[in-house]
Amino acid sequence: MAAAANPEDVIEYAPMEPEAVLRCHRRRVSEFSQFSELDRFELPEVSRLLEQDEGSEGGHALPSTPQDESYDPLEDELVDQVINREESTGDLDFSQMAHNAIEHAEELVHKAEEFAHKVWAAGTRLVSFHALPPWAQDNDYIHKSHRAPMPSFYACFRSIFYIHTETVNIWTHLLGCIGFVIIATYFLTRPSIEIDYQEKVVFSCFFAGAIVCMGASFIFHTVGCHSKRVLRLFSKFDYCGISLLIVGSFIPWLYYGFYCSFVPKVIYLTCVICLGSACMVVSLVDKFGEPEYRSLRAGLFLGFGLSGVVPAVHYLYSEGWFNSVPLTAVGWLALMGALYVAGALLYAFRVPERWFPGKCDIYFQSHQIFHVLVVAGAMVHYHGVSEMAMHRLTNGECSSEQHLVL
Ligand SMILES: [Zn+2]
Repeated sequence: MAAAANPEDVIEYAPMEPEAVLRCHRRRVSEFSQFSELDRFELPEVSRLLEQDEGSEGGHALPSTPQDESYDPLEDELVDQVINREESTGDLDFSQMAHNAIEHAEELVHKAEEFAHKVWAAGTRLVSFHALPPWAQDNDYIHKSHRAPMPSFYACFRSIFYIHTETVNIWTHLLGCIGFVIIATYFLTRPSIEIDYQEKVVFSCFFAGAIVCMGASFIFHTVGCHSKRVLRLFSKFDYCGISLLIVGSFIPWLYYGFYCSFVPKVIYLTCVICLGSACMVVSLVDKFGEPEYRSLRAGLFLGFGLSGVVPAVHYLYSEGWFNSVPLTAVGWLALMGALYVAGALLYAFRVPERWFPGKCDIYFQSHQIFHVLVVAGAMVHYHGVSEMAMHRLTNGECSSEQHLVL
């Protein structure tokens, strides 16, 4: 209960802040009904106001409330006059007003459509190679239909849905990425009696490499026209994705190829991870993404991929050169390698647009063919490694001596 107040305390309430005074004035007297009889007795001002409030009909607000202060009899009279005049002359035609409102709304919708069309047209502006800023100029054999720089991620992602120089590059790796997400989901959700936990972990490295590589490539080609900073950043992700795909491709085939040979398996896996890490570090250098280093990029990733020849020869030697199963598995790997090599060479030499400048602006650019070959190579690799896994798993467990075989 509140401490008892004396009349001197009431005087102390008087010097309140202006806002507090206004708040008090806005309250109804009835709100003070919570005061106990003792409070009424001890706070004579409150008692007086309560008596006034209780005596009035319906508890009106205090005379000093803003509601009363804002009342303007002149304005009220004016409104009254207007309504009376409209009613007396019959000018208040609601159907006409509704018609006007509809016409106005239609006009607004039309203007909004025009505005949206202009924004769309500005966002879809396609320019020639020479109209691009230097940072966006990459391949001078592609003459027209380049997206103009558009520093908006929304505009960049919207460009997925219209035709320009990057459309096929975007879709090839977007569809490849979706394809591998579906395959990985199917593979990893098989019951453990069908595919056991260890196989799933090993294959996951490959799936992760493929999905990250194609996903990063799709994003890079989509947002590459945003700005110089964004282009540089996402080109690094794109190159790191290629390294991850190569590392991810090596892991399952080294695992099954040297299933019972622990030492070579560990040595090769260590080498692959070190080489992959080195490639990623090189990819992070700003100069690495510039057009004049195109051949260096192709050479680096090609060299890394072809280093797989060493364990492949070792595998054939240890399994027997003319044993049909290893030959088939290596055959698939060789096909995968051929697809990657072809793609990398086309990419490095910019064929066929070099031979047909300006004719491959939308379709059949070297980069598009390279993308398709990467997707095909990854699919072939998945098939080849699956066969190796089946062969290993049907052969049963390794003997303890086999783990020491070099
Ligand atoms: Zn690409």
